[in-house]
Amino acid sequence: MIDTSILEAAKTADPTPILIAPQPVLRQITRPVAAEDMAQINAMLPGLFRAMYDAPGIGLAAPQVGLGLRFCLVDVADENEERHPMVLINPEVLSESESMAVREEGCLSLPNQYADVVRPEAVRVRYRTLDGSQQEIEADGLLATCLQHEIDHLDGILFVDHISALKRNMIMRRLAKEQRQRKG
Ligand code: ZN
Repeated sequence: MIDTSILEAAKTADPTPILIAPQPVLRQITRPVAAEDMAQINAMLPGLFRAMYDAPGIGLAAPQVGLGLRFCLVDVADENEERHPMVLINPEVLSESESMAVREEGCLSLPNQYADVVRPEAVRVRYRTLDGSQQEIEADGLLATCLQHEIDHLDGILFVDHISALKRNMIMRRLAKEQRQRKG
């Protein structure tokens, strides 16, 4: 669980701009977070949470704001529920269930684009918290999907990589067109 002061700070922070695919940094593999990165990460958290909640989104990974560091934010709480913010430093999937689940996914870096994605239904994830302690969580349902989606980002993988090339190309073309129209 996170210090509530971060959520307080997020209320007045400027949202960090989120990069849109096909931005090349979204395809880079991040490097593990080291102790000396923590000051920068802590300083960025209010703006990152603000960007995620404003979107609104349930996860945000460092490459989506141009940072090549292995960490992400997650909060799958319903908008009407109390927030459940998590910061996962150096997360890794330890094990996956054999059973698979289909869930519709979207991504803040592919705005307005959605597709059904098949992934393991449950995962066990190990990560470090902001204070450096090691944690493991067993996740299923929406949290399992979200964690896998965010950890994929840290390896340069987008949710569209899990669907057919035909559907992926359709989504990427539609996204490019919508982005051109937004600018034009
Ligand atoms: Zn995403």
